[in-house]
Amino acid sequence: MTIVRTRFAPSPTGNLHIGGIRTALFSWAYARHFNGIFILRIEDTDINRSTLSATQTIIDGMKWLGLNYDEGPFYQTKRINRYFEIINYLLSNDYAYYCYSSVEEIESFRKKQRSFGEKPRYNRIWRPEPGKILPSIPINRKPVIRFKNPLYGNITWNDLIKGKITISNKELDDLVIVRADGIPTYNFCAAIDDWDMKITHVIRGDDHINNTPRQINILKALGVTLPFYGHLPMVIDSNKVKISKRKEATDIMYYKKKGFLPEAILNYLARLGWSHGNEEIFSIKQFCYWFNDCKYLSKSPAQFNLKKLEWLNNFYIKSYDDKKLLNLIQPIIKKKNIEYNTLNVLKIISLFKNRVNTLTELSDIIIIFYSAPKLHIELLKKYITDIIKLALMECVLQFSNIIWEKQILNITLKKILEKFKLNMPQLAMPLRIILLNKLQTPSIDLILSLFNRNIVLDRIKNAIKNLNNTNKNLHI
Ligand code: GLU
Repeated sequence: MTIVRTRFAPSPTGNLHIGGIRTALFSWAYARHFNGIFILRIEDTDINRSTLSATQTIIDGMKWLGLNYDEGPFYQTKRINRYFEIINYLLSNDYAYYCYSSVEEIESFRKKQRSFGEKPRYNRIWRPEPGKILPSIPINRKPVIRFKNPLYGNITWNDLIKGKITISNKELDDLVIVRADGIPTYNFCAAIDDWDMKITHVIRGDDHINNTPRQINILKALGVTLPFYGHLPMVIDSNKVKISKRKEATDIMYYKKKGFLPEAILNYLARLGWSHGNEEIFSIKQFCYWFNDCKYLSKSPAQFNLKKLEWLNNFYIKSYDDKKLLNLIQPIIKKKNIEYNTLNVLKIISLFKNRVNTLTELSDIIIIFYSAPKLHIELLKKYITDIIKLALMECVLQFSNIIWEKQILNITLKKILEKFKLNMPQLAMPLRIILLNKLQTPSIDLILSLFNRNIVLDRIKNAIKNLNNTNKNLHI
């Protein structure tokens, strides 16, 4: 039985796009399901646009998500000699030829073709044919090398996702396989690599559908076995537009920075355009077990939904234990240079982890416990009367001398409420705003107990001072 071999072949020309990771995930999971081999190949022959930092981001992103590769990373720029071995073979076997047409000449044929309502294409003036006399070679012009695409017939493949696809050779140009600068082009390198790397299943975005017949023709000229091809529909945004490579929110590292967990991202992307019954939440291991056939992938574009990703992230955050979460957010809170009490922070995590969608939200909450947020005075004023202000002053007094513990805080708060004839929400709301800048929190005695006493006193005093400075609108 042949071993399944799949690959992810990104071009390192920008960020690591979320659509690209989805492609990588399906390719990876397919190999994992069949105990096959998954390869990482960096397609860096576009030298002007490829960068080392983009390559590093791909490697880091794959590692972060746990999409481990068994072979690679292979770099196309390191395989140029191999490509030329094949190019020389194609040249000497009449499958490829030098073309000396200048860019201006090609543009002018195209203009003419357009004016006749024809599809613009290369006029094949340099294509050698028996009995044809070729133009004389212009001096000092660097040629490109073109593949001699068959002139007739069709290319048909059974796409793993989209089913049977047929494209006529009449639609295809004589593809440039080596540019004038001597660098082989994507379609050529990808075809040779898929062959050399013994790829059995090419799973990639459907923006490559037009490249597939070109690559098949090259492989056919070499007389080698073709891989299966599967083209994944693109990911679109809520406006049904392809999510662009340039928008920040399509960069996988943006989600890492924002505090999304790899499990949530992989679960979300696996479910995007694929399903297994009604299952919404599943581990990546489970997904690999289920994912045995690309035909169950949707044929239509998949709509990216941030709310659903957040929902899944919330689910996985809740399921993590508090210490693991602390380890993950420690680097973020350390950057703020705050001195925190680990035991208390663990309690804060346990109390808030089911209320946040991201690790950043969770660390923001922890930071607020130690470093004062800007007081939301306009909001606070809505919950303040003179009596409540007096009750807050009483809090400062009473809180100074009690044992700092939830139960005692509860009793103390109740005494203050009784003294000023207030109910709990009347005092709890302003305290929530003063302490956490929020209207909704778990019970206020619990929140208070997780704070450092002096921080509570300072924040209440500061709020009273601010209210006194702006007390014109207060009413009894
Ligand atoms: N390098 C191509 C890209 O980043 C992918 C090519 C392929 O998968 O064949 O779009």
